[in-house]
Amino acid sequence: MNALTARPSNLERRVLCPGSEREESKVPQPPSSEAAQRGTRIHAHFEELVKAGAKKRPGVIKAKENGDDESRLAVQAWRDLSAVGLEFFGPDDEVSYHSEKELPLDMHGFDRPAHLDVAVIGKKRGLIADLKSGVWPYSPTSWQMKSYALAAWEAWQLEGFLLVILQPESDQPIRKEYVDASTLAQWAEDVEKALDACRNPLAAVVPDPEVQCKFCAAKGSCPAYTSNGLKKVEPALETLDLRNLSLPEFVRLVTAEQRAELLQASERMSAWLDELNAQLEAAATEGLPVVGYELRSYKVDKVWKDEAQAIPVLLELAQAAGKDQAAVRQPLKWLTPAQALKLFPKETARLEALIALKPSKLQLSKVKGAKP
Ligand code: SF4
Repeated sequence: MNALTARPSNLERRVLCPGSEREESKVPQPPSSEAAQRGTRIHAHFEELVKAGAKKRPGVIKAKENGDDESRLAVQAWRDLSAVGLEFFGPDDEVSYHSEKELPLDMHGFDRPAHLDVAVIGKKRGLIADLKSGVWPYSPTSWQMKSYALAAWEAWQLEGFLLVILQPESDQPIRKEYVDASTLAQWAEDVEKALDACRNPLAAVVPDPEVQCKFCAAKGSCPAYTSNGLKKVEPALETLDLRNLSLPEFVRLVTAEQRAELLQASERMSAWLDELNAQLEAAATEGLPVVGYELRSYKVDKVWKDEAQAIPVLLELAQAAGKDQAAVRQPLKWLTPAQALKLFPKETARLEALIALKPSKLQLSKVKGAKP
């Protein structure tokens, strides 16, 4: 059998829908979203801070504090980590810091290792922290954190771990829970059972658009997701037909509980309809016609023709304007063409020679006057 694609970060999906192992292994992973790329940049700042903090280099922390939003969020997470660590270990405990640590997990059934954001290891106890961006409330005892704790337990053989979620954008930026060896032993059994279930080639697919399906790469090809979406749409439409009421009349007539149920159904329907729309656009991009519609791009993005050629020009313009390099180089990337045009309005002609226009994603749009 092929290696499992299950890893700590998708284990919850595997637990709730064991068949997702089979379905996701048939499709390519989608490109990472803008939110995921932002999370990666915040992680990169955080990693630098953990490494610099362990070597007591306050200059790095200061520079990031004066940086952009992403580096400031990383500083906040670093400060929260330091505070939690100090409270947990005490000032005199000797600890070692491990950042972006890869640890094996094959002893518990995974075919892939765990990647821990940070582990702080004392003589008897350890601390595992995972940095999250956004505001969705992650639990310190999620399946992902359970897997990390097991990997750390195997690696350092300590009596227990404090599991910490650092989420600087959330209204609860620190969430933590201590687990001892007996809890970890129970988790080991649970994780192994869940991974065994995934290995079954006939494992059931269990859809829930708001939970396990939300980030599943198989949404577009999974029949269970499609039929679940249809099931959600049909009863709601039938109810409306039967009552023969307008929408305003309908929502005012039903009970408060029914309104809550309808709202949930509406959220699920809209998630499913978004996916349906994406699949129709994908089919049209492959050449399958949609009568009365055509693929159109509504926006044109400005991109550097060749960033290597643009960088010396940006540096030269910054110097001429009496600005330092930081004005044209953000912590992890150079200014975009749009930002450069705004910063150097008198140099438009010179900059435009370095810029190409790239049409944004194509969308299906009604052809004017068409009657599908
Ligand atoms: S789309 Fe949903 S039901 Fe289908 S495999 Fe993914 S998680 Fe399971």
